This record gives sequence, structure tokens and C-alpha cells, in this order.
Amino acid sequence: MSDFLNQISRRKFIVTATASAGAVFLKGCLGNPPEPGGGNAQTQSAAQPVANISPELAPETKTVKLGYIPIVESAPLIIAKEKGFFAKYGMTDVELSKQASWGSARDNVEIGSAGGGIDGGQWQMPMPHLITEGLITKGNQKIPMYVLCQLITHGNGIAIANKHLGKGISLQLASAKSLFTQLKSSTPFTAAFTFPHVNQDLWIRYWLAAGGIDPDADVKLLTVPAAQTVANMKTGTMDAFSTGDPWPYRLVKDKIGFMAALTAEIWKNHPEEYFAMRADWVDKNPKATKAILKGIMEAQQWLDNFDNRKEAATILSARNYFNLPADILAEPFQGKYDMGDGRKIDDKSMAAFYWKDGKGSVSYPYKSHDLWFLVENIRWGFLPKDYLGKAQALIDKVNREDIWKEAAKEAGIPAADIPTSTSRGVEEFFDGVKFDPAKPEEYLKSLKLKKVSV
Ligand code: CA
Repeated sequence: MSDFLNQISRRKFIVTATASAGAVFLKGCLGNPPEPGGGNAQTQSAAQPVANISPELAPETKTVKLGYIPIVESAPLIIAKEKGFFAKYGMTDVELSKQASWGSARDNVEIGSAGGGIDGGQWQMPMPHLITEGLITKGNQKIPMYVLCQLITHGNGIAIANKHLGKGISLQLASAKSLFTQLKSSTPFTAAFTFPHVNQDLWIRYWLAAGGIDPDADVKLLTVPAAQTVANMKTGTMDAFSTGDPWPYRLVKDKIGFMAALTAEIWKNHPEEYFAMRADWVDKNPKATKAILKGIMEAQQWLDNFDNRKEAATILSARNYFNLPADILAEPFQGKYDMGDGRKIDDKSMAAFYWKDGKGSVSYPYKSHDLWFLVENIRWGFLPKDYLGKAQALIDKVNREDIWKEAAKEAGIPAADIPTSTSRGVEEFFDGVKFDPAKPEEYLKSLKLKKVSV
């Protein structure tokens, strides 16, 4: 099939899939959620919230199409839709479109909703910057995008095939180094992620390099879709996988693999995925953008109440979203991880956070975090070294923390929850390495394994 026909059939599939998801949603939302103080929930939830919006905040459009990948990072989008938080701020027609892969999401935002694609959605970092620069688009077309909020911290990990149980592969790799060397001369240790040069690629690279394993020379790293990776781990042709919940937990539950490390162990309170949209959509619909953000913020606060997480797991695991048993999500949501190698974690501070984590705001998009993702791309030679000088200007163009702040103020978020600096300050990793966003070159100098000379 030609590329063009492939795209058409994929888009047709996405349209069909979301249309049926919408139908399920309509059925599911009747009689839910109950309105405080009783009354007729069905008629109130449909009409009342929109009536409360003052004319100066009323969105320019009620319609938007947002892409998501069925992993816990997408929870704020799904919860905002299912709990009526988008509708509360006037966005009554938000269509959530499940993306077959990160490549599809990239292709779909490139054509926009007018062409049958999407206006924005969930992204690994720094995809919005790379799309803006035309570095990962077709024909290197520049599609300006805005980063509007961070969706989540934690919730990711590095899974290893069960055949490597008991060989010392864990957060610290010192005792497993000889295994990697030994494999290198026959069949190199092979690991997968779902899209190159972004979070999951960067997490596995950071972890390997901290353990003295050169991710380019000592192992084989590949981009492979999640479901195929799981199948490959089962048959023994894949050794490791860097990915988000529910995949790590599924691997352990099905006894295919174990967890060497959670990303929460590699970098506590680390930024994970983001919400970003096409800049032309945001510029055309500034009030609708803020309405969407307010809905996401409310969902993030709701998700951070651990008492709501059982319900969240039920909503997310439904057939039209993740389509899996709810208990696969419920335990990690409480910070409970069976690592599959005898290690058990039961620590709420290791769970995914959506609104606030141990270091401050989750939702606010810190520019200092954008910088780390770009610097890591420079570290591994994905971006030329001159991006060290260009990164800040690119971040200032793409990161719209100013819109986040406006939306937060309009939503009545307390001042204490609105960061006053675009930098979260110095970050520290599990190996003791520190990233000072004011001195990115010093960070690169401090790293033993890298592809850039500084
Ligand atoms: Ca992720």
C-alpha cells in the first residue's frame, strides 16, 4: 500500500474509532457525576456549567480535537472529558482521538483537524520543539507549536526480559557490566522505546550511561511499538523496554519481564509528558485554549486526590480508552509496584502525580525542564552543538507558561500554586549528577558518556 493510502486508511480508522468512543461516552455519562445537593444530574451537567461562563471568558469555539496515547500520561485529558471539566469551562465538544503511535500523533498534528488530524494533545518531550523546528516532520516542514502544561510526573520505567532475572540488572548497573560486554560480542543487548530522541529514549540512555554502558556502542536501541515490544520480549528477541504504565506492570503481571528501575528512581519528581497544541489554533482561539487548560488543571487536581484514583483507574481502563483490567492501573496509581524481581515498592511518593509533586507544581511547564530535554538531545548528538546557544530562544517561542498562568488565575488557582520562576532550579539524578539550568554546558562537561565535545 502506498504511503498516501496508508495514511487515508489510518485516518479513517481513527475517525471511526473516536466516533464509537464518543457514542460510548454519551451512554456512560448519563446520571454521572452526581451534582452536590441533589437535583437532576442529567439536565444540570448538560446545561448549567456553560451558563456560568462570563462573556469575556467564553471560548471562541467549543470544538477541538486532541490526540492521546493510552498510557497514564493521558489521564488528565480523559478525566477532563469524562468528569465534565472541559464542558464546565465551555468546551462542550472536545474530541479525544486515540493515536496508533507517536509517529501518527506527529503526522496528525502536522495536518491539523481541518485535514482530518488533530489540533494538539499529549506529547513526549521535546516533540513540540522538534515539530516547531521541522526536524521530525515530513519534508522538514516547520509546524509552530506551543507547550501549554505538563501532564504528569513519574509513571514510567525500564522493563527487562525475564531471561535476565538474577543477573544484576537494576537501578545500579555496576554488577551487570560484564553481562553487557559479553553480549556485545555475540548478540548485543537490545532495548526498545516508542519514539526516538524523546523521554523514553532519554530515560534508558541516562540509566545506561550512568552505569557506564555506552547506549550507542554497547547496546542496540530501537524504536518499536509497545505491543510489538511485549511480543518480542516474550519470544526472547528483545531484552529491555523503556515505557509508561500500564505496560511495565503488564509485563510483570504476565511474567514476561521485571522492572529494573522506575523513572521515579532515576530522577525523583521528573517531568514526563506534556500538553501542547498547534500555535495557529491557540493564536486563533486564545479563550478556548485557556478553557481547555482550566479543564485539564481541574482534572489534574482531581487525579491527585488518591481517593479518586480507583475511579480514575476504572474510567481509563474502559474499552474505549485503554481497554484493560482496571487493577493493572489501580496499584501503580497508589505507588505500589511489584518490580517482578522480588522487589516491592509501596511508597506514595513514587506514584504518578498530576498537579503537585514533591518538588512543586506538576502542571506548570517549567522552561528549565524544556532545556534539559533539549540539552540531552545535544548530549547524544541528535541536535547540533550550536543548539546550546539557540535553545533558550526556541524555548521562549514554544513554551507558553504565560498562558498557563493566565488560565490558572482565571480558574481561581491560589497564588501559592502558581510558580513565580520559569526555572525549577537545580535538578539531581540518582547517580549524583546535577543539572543547573543556568549552566547547561557545565552539566554536559560533568557527564562521562556523551556524543558532544564540550
Ligand atoms: Ca512516557
